[in-house]
Amino acid sequence: MHRTAIGVVLVVGSGIAAAQPLATGPVERVDGFKVVRVEVRTLADLRLMDAIGADQWSHSIRPGVPADFMVSPESLNALDNAGVRYQVVVHDVQSLIDAENERLGGGGGGGKRAWFEDFRTLAEIEAYMGALAAQRPDIASVFNVGSSIEGRTIRGLRIANDAFGDPACKPTVIFNACQHAREWISPMVAMYAADRLVAAHGSDPALTALIDRAEIIFIPVVNPDGYQYTWTTYRLWRKNRRNNGNGTFGVDLNRNWGVGWGRNDGSSGNGSSETYRGTAPFSEPETDVVRALAASRPRLAAHVDLHSYGQLLLAPWGYTVELPPGHETFQMLGAEMQQVIKGVHNRTYVHGPTYTALYPISGGATDWFWGDRDAHSFLFELRGNNFILPPEEIIPNSEEILPALVFLAAWAREGARPRADFNDDASVSTLDLIAFLNAWVAQDQAADMNGDGALDTLDVLAFLNAWVEGC
Ligand SMILES: [Zn+2]
Repeated sequence: MHRTAIGVVLVVGSGIAAAQPLATGPVERVDGFKVVRVEVRTLADLRLMDAIGADQWSHSIRPGVPADFMVSPESLNALDNAGVRYQVVVHDVQSLIDAENERLGGGGGGGKRAWFEDFRTLAEIEAYMGALAAQRPDIASVFNVGSSIEGRTIRGLRIANDAFGDPACKPTVIFNACQHAREWISPMVAMYAADRLVAAHGSDPALTALIDRAEIIFIPVVNPDGYQYTWTTYRLWRKNRRNNGNGTFGVDLNRNWGVGWGRNDGSSGNGSSETYRGTAPFSEPETDVVRALAASRPRLAAHVDLHSYGQLLLAPWGYTVELPPGHETFQMLGAEMQQVIKGVHNRTYVHGPTYTALYPISGGATDWFWGDRDAHSFLFELRGNNFILPPEEIIPNSEEILPALVFLAAWAREGARPRADFNDDASVSTLDLIAFLNAWVAQDQAADMNGDGALDTLDVLAFLNAWVEGC
């Protein structure tokens, strides 16, 4: 790769100062670079792509399934010489970036348009999170998840109704986006979902019930340093901004989680690689603080990690071809979410275990959320044919993903509800005891606590055991 940088003076020693608005937008250029769709037939083909410095954009390296790579003009010659067949899908990557930058006003964000009609800077996303919290302080708050490696605050938006029920009894759902900096659609989709949930409380009965009975956390930008860097310096940056100390920068955050970490199929030990896993699991502050947040929630029930692109709903495992415990449940959830998504704009998302539906990911977030936290976790690959999407994709993409997130949250919430919360008021009290006994006396099957099809004293014992346990 021979990218060129102009106006480097703008970024040298920028650090936190990079948060200042810049007049120019990204300065590192990829003139003449193309995106090619390659049918990777053999491991030798894949090694060649690696050797020529091709940057893999889409994720499919199974034989017979084409994958997208960005290549320099010189690399294209190497492909030709090696006889690798390809189709050019983006003729001029830089022209897409230039057009996007011009539209966005040189890095200032799409300020002239409605909020979800164009991509937003880190500062704009943070301001909008604050606005949602200000609009509904009773159910929404912004909190500090932790600090990035360059010292930026990673912000979470917590949506929960603490005045309803007992917060300690409520399941938690975490939705995050933008582990990968260049995948700009992902924080927009997360913000849209947060915006809709906040607006729905008090008017939409199902969403109100969900918000009353669960804690829903959005982390729209897990990788704020990388995201900022895509706006100021290099639009196609993927990793975080760790200085690896050997002339290379960045750890792939979605290879840095602690389940299945360190395998060479699905991550790289080389700092120059786009899938560099770092020196140890959770070596990066960005993954470590999200880990700590998740670990602080004993009722964590579900998680989604938003990425682009490819229209995929990917379940564990990513690190092994083995199927995870609970595979049938993941298949059911994938199929259900596929249907609700298709019902919105008729887009088909393929679902399945990451390793077999996509390709190996070692040290990915979904494997950790399921393997370590027992939270049903999916990686979504959103819409698109590249990372520089027409802004007109933001709203339809968000509209189709919202019901899938709601479905997963509602399903997980119901499953994680304390057994003794019989009346479903998100607390365990004498009201539940009364409600249970009434149901039992009335021969209501809801009182079949042990699920044996009969209503007898065993159910009373099972309920009392759960009730004594509380939440
Ligand atoms: Zn990604």
